[in-house]
Amino acid sequence: MQLYSTKNRNNLVSLKEAIMRSLPADRGLYMPDHIPTLSQNFITHIEQYTFEEIAFNVIGSVIGDEIPTAKLRSIVEETVNFPAPVVSLDDDTHVLELFHGPSLAFKDFGARFMAQMMSYYNRGENQELTILVATSGDTGGAVAAGFYKVPGVRVIILYPSGKVSELQEKQLTTLGENITALEIDGTFDDCQSIVKSAFLDKDLNDKYRLSSANSINIARLLPQSLYYFEAYKQLKDKGRHLVFSIPSGNFGNLTAGLLAKRMGLPVGKFIAATNANDIVPEYLKSGEYAPKPSVQTISNAMDVGNPSNFQRMEDLYGSTWNSMKKDIVGYSYSDGQTKEAIKVIHDKYGYVMDPHGAVGYLALEAYQSVVKNTNGVILETAHPAKFLPVMEPILGDIDIPQRLALLSEKIKVASSLSTTFEDFKGWMIAS
Ligand SMILES: *Cc1c(COP(=O)(O)O)cnc(C)c1O
Repeated sequence: MQLYSTKNRNNLVSLKEAIMRSLPADRGLYMPDHIPTLSQNFITHIEQYTFEEIAFNVIGSVIGDEIPTAKLRSIVEETVNFPAPVVSLDDDTHVLELFHGPSLAFKDFGARFMAQMMSYYNRGENQELTILVATSGDTGGAVAAGFYKVPGVRVIILYPSGKVSELQEKQLTTLGENITALEIDGTFDDCQSIVKSAFLDKDLNDKYRLSSANSINIARLLPQSLYYFEAYKQLKDKGRHLVFSIPSGNFGNLTAGLLAKRMGLPVGKFIAATNANDIVPEYLKSGEYAPKPSVQTISNAMDVGNPSNFQRMEDLYGSTWNSMKKDIVGYSYSDGQTKEAIKVIHDKYGYVMDPHGAVGYLALEAYQSVVKNTNGVILETAHPAKFLPVMEPILGDIDIPQRLALLSEKIKVASSLSTTFEDFKGWMIAS
């Protein structure tokens, strides 16, 4: 398998290079130069396969013989070692629950696959790989859990003091082993700027093998295609017009769905569901891509003003608005509408949906009010217990999964540092 940069199709690299570098130097994004079509036989008989077998088939056909079969099997086993069940609210409305992993959000799939792939590519190196990550919350938790105890890799997570939720902080600071948390007395941007300086610093690069766990790494995108197949497997009436509604921010999840369709999954439509950060729905309406500063909402993992995967979406459609519009329709909703939806979903179906999923629900409902008799699937991207300050005023007490409840009893371990690069560098050299 080779990958090209969305900025230059002639700039081909190996999968190893794409994963270890994250980003091409020309500031495009890596894309597979060939998207395979899965056999009709596999799609027709998909109910016969376990999630693991589906994952192995799909990933295997994309990355080819890049990795020995037995190794790829074990990587896939680690990636999908928790289920992605479909819960039906009614005949037309289904929820694909992607929150059964360690950090209770869909990002676990991508983070776990990336961790396994990086560990594999670092084999045979006598120096361990040091991953630096700046996080504003959710990504750090998934990355920490994904790399936890992965051989040959150490992870250093920088997070802004007092600016992540208590539970998110516990997810970063209580694992120990190969995961180290640094509490930076500043903002997310300060954390990110320290990480950027570290990659440019000669002393640190001499002493460590540094890498990043960037959210647009192709290793995070590919495994997100898998659960679209897993959802299809679980649906009855497979012949009906299939629609996925995807609560979106950076549009990695939706882009992975587009790849699944290119591989042969019979998807009728993708719905780009956003909060007030409506850049893509606006683009789909007007044909004009106009990034703007992000605004804060209650579905904060989608507060993105310039979605990074838009480059990949354009690439898939040859930058033609008309062809993108055939596959994707967009809707956006306010916080008020989202809160109301959380209440309606609970009253109508007895289902507790998190704020991100609720945006997906609204968008599916809007689409289905126009296009009748469709099989609608909402991607529920996180567990509602991650958002208690939003959920509890609407629904009262929320059931908290045991693994989340246990976290609050664990003791936080983090080193406190200022926002200066010198402080960070001193800490790294001493560590
Ligand atoms: C990251 C995230 C999203 C947005 O996903 P993208 O792939 O960036 O579009 C949606 N919901 C939750 C809960 C997330 O953590």
